[in-house]
Amino acid sequence: MQIVYSPTHEKHQPKTFIRRGTVVANPEVAARAATLLAAARGAGHRIVAPDDFGAGPREAVHGKDYLDFLATVHARWQGLAGAAEEVVPNIHPGRHMARRPVGLAGLVGYHTADTACPIGAGTWEAAVASANVALHAASLVLAGAPAAYGLCRPPGHHAYADMAGGFCYLNNVAIAAQHMRSSLRRVAILDIDVHHGNGTQGIFYERPDVFFASLHADPGDYYPFFCGYAEETGAGAGRGCNLNLPLAHGSGDREMLTALETALAAIGRHAPDAVLVSLGFDASEHDPLGVLKVSGDGFAAIARRIAAAGLPTVLIQEGGYMSAALGDNLARFLAAFEAR
Ligand SMILES: [Zn+2]
Repeated sequence: MQIVYSPTHEKHQPKTFIRRGTVVANPEVAARAATLLAAARGAGHRIVAPDDFGAGPREAVHGKDYLDFLATVHARWQGLAGAAEEVVPNIHPGRHMARRPVGLAGLVGYHTADTACPIGAGTWEAAVASANVALHAASLVLAGAPAAYGLCRPPGHHAYADMAGGFCYLNNVAIAAQHMRSSLRRVAILDIDVHHGNGTQGIFYERPDVFFASLHADPGDYYPFFCGYAEETGAGAGRGCNLNLPLAHGSGDREMLTALETALAAIGRHAPDAVLVSLGFDASEHDPLGVLKVSGDGFAAIARRIAAAGLPTVLIQEGGYMSAALGDNLARFLAAFEAR
């Protein structure tokens, strides 16, 4: 399988992460991508560099105000008295406030969901490269490849049209899906990251042409907390085109594969021309952030089942944090997928 990769992700080196009130090291480290790349290369897959698709595909998903904010905020932030090197919000609009302010501290809160998306000097450049990785993987599939894998970093599925969050800035899978819609009638997104793909859901929630299904840990006591529930099924023209399958914490291969059958059956009824997979490995039993217990065998079984659906498939890397199993989980996923 062709593996799309750009080393530009190394310019994004987030430091801040707040867990239970304590500032700890941010787990979304460059070593994740290095580990995944080494595993793919070691398994004999071909590594290709992405083309530059320009601003158009980003602007087809994200608002111009938000893109301008992301591109310029780090430089502007440096002009604030006493500003830290990284942009981190200290206020967010609550349920009763919605106005977009003019001041920078307020804008940072407006355009971020949480403190887990610090913006450093190289974040914008890395996020743009990550979106190009996803777009290139999609373009390979549009050109006839049965599947391609975009080794995206930073990840994307928590980013909304106008808001970063949860280590994500540009929604790579949404940008790739929208790009594919220029030549395909319908696409589906299957999100198997341990966290609900709230940004992707938000972007396509009222759209009938992009079906979204997410398998994830129950958000009642897990990120993103405020959505990802079964009763969220889409709205307006998109009613019935959103499927959330939250899993009890501690669930393993059996529960994941049962939910996957439900998701694939729903995707099949939507009759998409291609599927994009938000591929997180943080559902692994070895993941430091995860609360599910999927084994290496489980990821291989998931891959076989997705491949058996027989759809052109774009694999987009989302989460999955440093553990001894991270690279092996990708290698096993890709091997099982290709054995279809
Ligand atoms: Zn995740």
